[in-house]
Amino acid sequence: MLKARSCDVVIVGGGHNGLVCAYYLAVAGLSVTVLERRHVVGGAAVTEEFHPGFRNSVAAYTVSLLNPKIIRDLDLARHGLRIVERGLSNFLPLDAQQYLKVGAGRTEREVAKFSQRDAARLAAYAQRLDAVADVLRDLVLETPPNVTSGGWLEALPELLNGARLGRRLAKLDMPLRRELLDLFVKSAGDYLDGWFESAPIKAAYGFDGIVGNYASPYAAGSAYVLLHHVFGEVNGKKGVWGHAIGGMGAITQAMAKAAAERGVEIRISSPVREVTVKRGRAIGVVLDSGETIAARTVVSNLNPKLLYGALIDPAMLPEDFRTRIQHWRCGSGTFRMNVALAELPDFRALPGRAVAEHHTAGIIMAPSLAYMEQAYLNAKAGGWSKQPIVEMLIPSTLDDSLAPKGEHVASLFCQHVAPVLPNGASWDAHRDEVADLMIELVNSHAPNFKAAVLGRQIMSPLDLERTFGLIGGDIFHGALSLDQLFSARPMLGHADYRGPLQGLYMCGSGTHPGGGVTGAPGHNAAREILKDLKKRALLRRAQ
Ligand SMILES: Cc1cc2nc3c(=O)[nH]c(=O)nc-3n(C[C@H](O)[C@H](O)[C@H](O)COP(=O)(O)OP(=O)(O)OC[C@H]3O[C@@H](n4cnc5c(N)ncnc54)[C@H](O)[C@@H]3O)c2cc1C
Repeated sequence: MLKARSCDVVIVGGGHNGLVCAYYLAVAGLSVTVLERRHVVGGAAVTEEFHPGFRNSVAAYTVSLLNPKIIRDLDLARHGLRIVERGLSNFLPLDAQQYLKVGAGRTEREVAKFSQRDAARLAAYAQRLDAVADVLRDLVLETPPNVTSGGWLEALPELLNGARLGRRLAKLDMPLRRELLDLFVKSAGDYLDGWFESAPIKAAYGFDGIVGNYASPYAAGSAYVLLHHVFGEVNGKKGVWGHAIGGMGAITQAMAKAAAERGVEIRISSPVREVTVKRGRAIGVVLDSGETIAARTVVSNLNPKLLYGALIDPAMLPEDFRTRIQHWRCGSGTFRMNVALAELPDFRALPGRAVAEHHTAGIIMAPSLAYMEQAYLNAKAGGWSKQPIVEMLIPSTLDDSLAPKGEHVASLFCQHVAPVLPNGASWDAHRDEVADLMIELVNSHAPNFKAAVLGRQIMSPLDLERTFGLIGGDIFHGALSLDQLFSARPMLGHADYRGPLQGLYMCGSGTHPGGGVTGAPGHNAAREILKDLKKRALLRRAQ
């Protein structure tokens, strides 16, 4: 018989948010155990060998949103994390002759190739967007005001929280308030059409509005997804995206080291089968192995739909909560590939096989918002588009630890595909066919690409779900739509990292501020857990 163990806190899932949460709880003096299902911690932010001699960030592939406070608190630099900037932010090959480069000090000149008017508007656009992104930056490490059905004792802190938020927003002038409203409710397409007239710059910016968002760039709410991708920074430079040397796994390995140094026990290959609930309170977990671990507090790093749908006896949950969580909208239109390359792509629009700045960029292959909309409509009708959207990154141009000398690795972040194929078709039957299509698309821009592919790893939405527990391949643990954000993430009344069961908390991307490698949900959940534990200790002392 297996011996029952116990600790103060058990965290289900060793994604980056689970690790961050574990770190802060351990710093507060609690004994913490992290249980990760896979053979490696990091969740969607991991680096693995996918072809002999070639390593890459397997899922998440670029860094910006990781919160600077968390980088500092966990001292990630001391634990080996180094983040570098790209030589160029974005490169859009458009056809055999034309391209757009986006990057500091050159976007204006580049955009002027297509529209002088748009070039002249870039500075104002960037300033407005950054001012609104500042609002979001301020809120990322806050617990959203939680709509409570409790008495005044519960309602008062939430009212104060709401008032604080109100005061923050009141500091914005009227034009910025209008901008904020636009960015929360409009489509990325409508928003960008209001600023610019030429297609390439709208495609470059609008791509952020459909990342992980299975929707047209003209779908209401997609402007928020765009905003979500600009609140980050790299080494103090706002809105910039960069590369973690060693891949995204370098971030989570550094987090794991920081947590272990504070005494966190991290167990890999330890899938949790069930959260044990007694009289409405979570009291521990049962592993697939049958081992039980008792804990005062259980924290879940999982998509809320996975936690409440698969790990908890439904009879333990209030019916309304159970029904709503079943309807939690998950499903990105994302198809992810990693390829090992014998040589760099030689673009028709900008020839050359030697490393150049455009090879270090996020290379967006989708020339216009209309093209992106069509890709979505095709996927909706038939499962995928024959003219898909691919963003390619070649991190080995910035990091020689990933591929043998002279060779390269590329991340292909492809959209749109249907999270679940129509008419009962299985992704297992279509994975290779769709991967071929993605390679063909890159090849149409860089005709040496197909022949340069030495090996490939393919992840359909189903593979993302199987490998990482991302329901419907949802890269954010739930759509970033207005009905699933802020005080409604994951549900009105539960935006404060607490679910309906006592002692059970959520610390993953299904909570505020949502997906991306931010560390913020883990940070915020730890703060709420510590508040509750202090309250309980005070109550015990008073009794
Ligand atoms: C293809 C793809 C590309 C992306 N690109 C980027 C990007 O470039 N930049 C960016 O910032 N973000 C990106 N994202 C989003 C980002 O990676 C995620 O939002 C983020 O990593 C989620 O972190 P998390 O800690 O909340 O959860 P996860 O990373 O999902 O971690 C949850 C963990 O729980 C584990 N688990 C699940 N079930 C159990 C169980 N029963 N028992 C024990 N453990 C369990 C899982 O194995 C996993 O390790 C991308 C995501 C994907 C999928």
